[in-house]
Amino acid sequence: MSKKHNFGAGPCILPQDVFSEAAKAVVNFNGLSILEISHRSADFVAVMDEAQYLVKKALNVPDGYSVLFLQGGASLGFLISAMNMARNNKKAAYVDTGAWSTKAIKEAKNAGLQVEIIATSKDKNFNYIPKNIKVDNTFDYIHITSNNTIFGTQFNTLPKFDIPVVCDMSSDIFSRKINVSNFDIIYAGAQKNLGPAGATLYIVKDSILGKSSIDIPTYLNLKTHADKDSMFNTPPVFSIYVAMLNLRHLMKLGGVSVIEETNQAKADLLYNEIDRNPLFKGVVEKEDRSNMNVTFVLTDESLQDEFNQMWNNEGIEGLKGHRSVGGYRASMYNALPLSSVEILVNVMKEFANKH
Ligand SMILES: *Cc1c(COP(=O)(O)O)cnc(C)c1O
Repeated sequence: MSKKHNFGAGPCILPQDVFSEAAKAVVNFNGLSILEISHRSADFVAVMDEAQYLVKKALNVPDGYSVLFLQGGASLGFLISAMNMARNNKKAAYVDTGAWSTKAIKEAKNAGLQVEIIATSKDKNFNYIPKNIKVDNTFDYIHITSNNTIFGTQFNTLPKFDIPVVCDMSSDIFSRKINVSNFDIIYAGAQKNLGPAGATLYIVKDSILGKSSIDIPTYLNLKTHADKDSMFNTPPVFSIYVAMLNLRHLMKLGGVSVIEETNQAKADLLYNEIDRNPLFKGVVEKEDRSNMNVTFVLTDESLQDEFNQMWNNEGIEGLKGHRSVGGYRASMYNALPLSSVEILVNVMKEFANKH
């Protein structure tokens, strides 16, 4: 069967070259399988070193930050970040921009923090990004979600704050340039733009480590992992290996600034069609549209089966919207080629011509 056009929200598409190389390493990686080598072996230590180095290179991570690959997904990151950022006030500011932020808030409360939702877009089913967010220094930190995978909104300009900042970047990390020095903890599940599920990336400012006001269980303490260079226990070896291959691939393409332009071209192509085509309507405020997850609906719901049939016939996969939004969601992570977006747009045009 020929390769489908994968618009799935996560786990998501990765470059075909990366799959080929990863497949080879499963069978033979310097005489063993990548799945059986010791994480303490020189071969794997080299993989970990290169993965950390490439993260730093791709995102221009300044000195004074550690790059860690842990487990538990971004869902554990909600708790880990809260526990590690708790200070004497035990009070945190959260921006609630959708389902993932809402879960992050719940975990901060589980960590024993008093949480204040200082901005939210809940009043309009999270179809926009709150603006002019103000926060004072009675809070230990502020938490934001850079891209809202489910609702299809994104901080197109990441805000800056005068207090420590934690950001869940699960679904747009490596898709655009960021200024890491504006953040104290960045975390991201690998499976949205980095690699296969299993690893969770943390980029942590070293000066925040070991300063929590609460007792943190060993694994959940980021200092544990920073002190052991991300090798406190067995890391998710295969996921890190594939993430490393994917980062190599990204750097070969020219890095984040080049992929950012491609991502912009893909987003422009699809949003222009949504705006032009009378059979479709975007779900979110134009200025807050995500370049990663494009949400849209049919203007006439009764045509749903026909449209679904049409994109299915073209080998398009994963276009169904999340149940809380309905309609469609086209996730266009780094590895999705422009040609796949062109195929979707052609289906939409053809659909309009029929009606
Ligand atoms: C997918 C996602 C999560 C959850 O990630 P897991 O690794 O499955 O726990 C959290 N935040 C955002 C923004 C996501 O897109």
